[in-house]
Amino acid sequence: MIIRLRNVRKVYKMGAERIHALDGVHLDIEKGEYVAVMGHSGSGKSTLMNMLGCLDRPTSGTYELDGQLTTRMSGGELARVRNRRIGFVFQSFELMPRMTAVKNVELPLVYAPDGWRGRHKMARAALDRVGLADRAHHKPNQMSGGQRQRVAIARALICRPSILLADEPTGNLDSKTSAEILDLFDAIHKDGQTIIMVTHEADVACHAKRIVRMSDGRVVSDLPVEADEVYALASYHSGEGPLEQGVVGQ
Ligand code: ADP
Ligand code: MG
Repeated sequence: MIIRLRNVRKVYKMGAERIHALDGVHLDIEKGEYVAVMGHSGSGKSTLMNMLGCLDRPTSGTYELDGQLTTRMSGGELARVRNRRIGFVFQSFELMPRMTAVKNVELPLVYAPDGWRGRHKMARAALDRVGLADRAHHKPNQMSGGQRQRVAIARALICRPSILLADEPTGNLDSKTSAEILDLFDAIHKDGQTIIMVTHEADVACHAKRIVRMSDGRVVSDLPVEADEVYALASYHSGEGPLEQGVVGQ
């Protein structure tokens, strides 16, 4: 098991009010899974991702990543786990604006033992894998949204993380570019990478193999994609899924 959450709670205090952003979450994820997290705004998706990414600690409950209990780790240990084991991709890309693509991708390698030549070579290879070999010296404002997200994905994968976390990775992209980014995620998943992705779009979610639905800080449904309603919805829209065939067959 790569991820094991037990009774995880996160309580925010806002004056006298207490907000239960996560309200007793149990979640197990195996190595190599591709999971989509869905739920309406405010249901706790980002809080969950921050927890999984060791950007935040639970108020109570436990989180094991790769068999290690993270909830007892010091700040320094957590930072190391974040750097080595977790790759993040965000809706807004979060690249360093003054740095070229290759410099952005090199950033997580600051602690790597390789010299600068080695790091540069690794970053170039990572850009090549996401189809951006010819954009290595462009800065973010000289690239399209889709290209920026590819740089962010190359950066997220450069340390060969245990898990890739993506919070609405296609939220700022048009549908054609979104499809290209999702194809890239499919390829990364086929290579064995564990992926956990937040989205509220059915046609994005159905790239995953498993759908976890949240509401009011709880997991309210956790099903293989074929058993979740997004599958029916997405295949209905594409006009070739089981729902459509079922309708025709009757
Ligand atoms: P989602 O990503 O599903 O939209 P979030 O995880 O961002 O939801 O938020 C879950 C709940 O926790 C919401 O009610 C939100 O207002 C609250 N919340 C999130 N972050 C904070 C914070 N830093 N301080 C106080 N409340 C927060
Ligand atoms: Mg969110």
